[in-house]
Amino acid sequence: MIEVRNAVDIHGGNRDYFIPSAQNKTINAEGLLAFPGLIDGHVHFRTPGFEYKENWISGAQAAVHGGITTVFDMPNTNPVTTSLSDLQEKKALINSQLSDIPLRYQLYLGADRSHFDEISRCKDQIAGIKVFMGSSTGNLLVDDDQSLSEVFKLAAQYDLVVALHAEDEKMIEENSNQFKDRHDALTHSLLRTPEVAAHAIKRALALSKPFNTKLYFLHISSQKEIELIAKAKQEGRLIYAETTPHHLFLDTSAYEYLGTFAQVNPPLRSPEDRKALWQAVNEGIIDTLGSDHAPHTIEEKRKPYREAPSGMPGIETMLPLMLNAYNTHLLSLEKILSLMHTRITEIFHLPTNDDLILIDLKKTTTVEAKKLHSRSSWSAFEGTQLTGHPVCTIVQGQVYDFRTKTARLVSA
Ligand SMILES: [Zn+2]
Repeated sequence: MIEVRNAVDIHGGNRDYFIPSAQNKTINAEGLLAFPGLIDGHVHFRTPGFEYKENWISGAQAAVHGGITTVFDMPNTNPVTTSLSDLQEKKALINSQLSDIPLRYQLYLGADRSHFDEISRCKDQIAGIKVFMGSSTGNLLVDDDQSLSEVFKLAAQYDLVVALHAEDEKMIEENSNQFKDRHDALTHSLLRTPEVAAHAIKRALALSKPFNTKLYFLHISSQKEIELIAKAKQEGRLIYAETTPHHLFLDTSAYEYLGTFAQVNPPLRSPEDRKALWQAVNEGIIDTLGSDHAPHTIEEKRKPYREAPSGMPGIETMLPLMLNAYNTHLLSLEKILSLMHTRITEIFHLPTNDDLILIDLKKTTTVEAKKLHSRSSWSAFEGTQLTGHPVCTIVQGQVYDFRTKTARLVSA
């Protein structure tokens, strides 16, 4: 049994927690805020095939140090996760990498035109179905009406959530031709405009309507997308929306100092879009926060625009960024809990657990990539001073107390 004594709950009251565990431990949590273990519903831990970018040891370390005890991993690996056998092989690999690290995880099945019959075979073992309407890392793409309809129909039939990367592939191609002579990183935001994302959302909403499919729109980043989602929610549709820390905390001005390191899909938006995003968070139009932790090496990200891959790491800095946002009055602690735990639990019907994290709301740290745990070893937030930090993570009865030097995830 782990006894957590004198923690502060979200209402400011004092509370003790008793967590079933093989370990016997008493933790003095005086002055520390207790949250349930947080959930990151959007990570790319790169296994199988891209372990040089990340694996589940480095990914899990980054997660646990960031107060995250459950992750949902995406299927755009190599090979892609589009069948029951892919899923089983991936799980075996993940479990061998995690070894005794008790990180909880769920996997997405990638929708793929030639594997729709796999959906029924996998339905009880997945977080949901991931659909790439626009291309990103990997080669999963479902962008014709007939295939999209088929996925939406099957998902509704099996009560599965469809998580959508909503960017319109044809519009991206057209814009890409128009800007073919531009090679600066800002071009990325000109190719993949808010209209590109909004058009894909409109199509998904229309095509899924006959089936009332649960649609979970990933990485919402602009006012135009927010308007469509707000309207669909008002109509009573089963529509949910995620945003990311990079879309909340960075805008197109970041290209000036990050260049291709700021390249993500969908791209960074204008300061006005960023403002609209914060408003949508506080109004509850945005349901969840996912890191879209998508690590690449420094060498890959340093390449010129059109050769550099899209994506940035973010799982370990996500909660500190949000706590700092709380400390600067951008949102409440209740909202952070809702974005990073409660809503995703509800949307995906996750079982409850005893995971707990302890947060020092006053602790100030400076983001230094060399102290972070992702293999990508860089951060878009390098040098940023943040107030509020998780100091202890308890996952599946295992304690990682970062206040002590013995908080290691892997036994030597
Ligand atoms: Zn992603």
